[in-house]
Amino acid sequence: MNSRKISVGLNIAIVQLNPQIGQVKQTVSRVYELIDKFKGTLGSQKTPDLVVFPEFALTGYNFHSREHILPYLTNDPSKGVSFDLAEKVSKMFNCYTVIGYPERYIDSSEKEHLYNSAAVVDPDGKLVFNYRKSFLYNTDEEWGCEENPNGFQNFNLDFPGKGTDLRTGEKLDVSLNSSIGICMDLSPYKFQAPFDKFEFSTYNIDNNSELIICPMAWLHSSSYTNHSNDSKSKVMHGIETNLKNHSLPLHGSQGKFVVDIDENNKTERIENDSDSIEISYSELDKPDMSNVNYWLLRFMPFLSCMFRNKRFVDDSSFPSYDLEYSCGEKSYMGSTKDSPWAFKDKNATIVLANRCGVEDGTTIFAGSSGIWKFNGQDVDTETNLNSLNESVELLGNLGKCHEGIIMRHVDFEIIR
Ligand code: GLN
Repeated sequence: MNSRKISVGLNIAIVQLNPQIGQVKQTVSRVYELIDKFKGTLGSQKTPDLVVFPEFALTGYNFHSREHILPYLTNDPSKGVSFDLAEKVSKMFNCYTVIGYPERYIDSSEKEHLYNSAAVVDPDGKLVFNYRKSFLYNTDEEWGCEENPNGFQNFNLDFPGKGTDLRTGEKLDVSLNSSIGICMDLSPYKFQAPFDKFEFSTYNIDNNSELIICPMAWLHSSSYTNHSNDSKSKVMHGIETNLKNHSLPLHGSQGKFVVDIDENNKTERIENDSDSIEISYSELDKPDMSNVNYWLLRFMPFLSCMFRNKRFVDDSSFPSYDLEYSCGEKSYMGSTKDSPWAFKDKNATIVLANRCGVEDGTTIFAGSSGIWKFNGQDVDTETNLNSLNESVELLGNLGKCHEGIIMRHVDFEIIR
């Protein structure tokens, strides 16, 4: 049978939050307030088909022990405060909702397993998928989180009537090949794997993912981490002073909601200088372009890139090429044995739902949640592996500091 080209049109919304540990109730009530504001801005005709919340959206993120996280764990993915909220949002908008939450699972031999999970709730309010984070950040390890035993996974999301046959104009039900990556899933495994393995994006290239959903609690670079050059107290003092200068409390901004449904408000394409000395927490209404550019770099296999084509004709310029292929049938930096770029002429939509705010006085989260489309257009001269790359359409990103909702309409093509 001939394959058909189908255009899919979706409205995708992200809820960017600043949840603080011990304040689940307050966070939930802010979510409802924010959603009310969002509904007021929307008017009647436009509603989201998918709403994505951050990693640990309602509980806060920096848990330091099993005891610390215990009161917040959910024993059943289809119960608890996070699921309840997702169910309500799904029914409210007749949409899918994805929400990050901490999970406790007791196996058949009564052994306890803790996971950093994301529940996928369908428009009827039913749990249709539960993903567990595969690559852990050191904060996850502090409370005994385990890796997803299944690794990265795909699942289908059905969107009735959201497809259009590009030849006949016929309206179609579509089922999208979807995947979830929770924050550190986008990074090299344990920060130790070779950077150019791009594990998560390679997985998505190899498995033809069309919709990639990323709930995150990604840190801003001015946070204190194991890799920080300065002492903890110096970094903490810097953060405190910085927040004071912006008249913000120590936990950052809450309740100053931004609702962005302006399709024309595209993310500015800015190349940040990675060598720039300390990037401070400033221009709070704008996305953090060092994060945006870094996330894009982690999706390198989805980006058009000149050297990939060149390498295909001249292997010698890239020594690890053969080496990688001897490990298996996977693509490497987006190339397969048969073609320079596996993703050429394909489309994929990516949703990055990051939290904002500050925890422990040490950890600033980067906000900057956004919705992007990889368009698969191969530009022979493309060398940028950042927001200047024209094969990614940056439909919009929220700023780094405030809570809010961004919604964008995405049109992308799939083949069936
Ligand atoms: N790589 C991410 C970061 O540095 C990991 C954070 C997370 O998994 N929440 O922010």
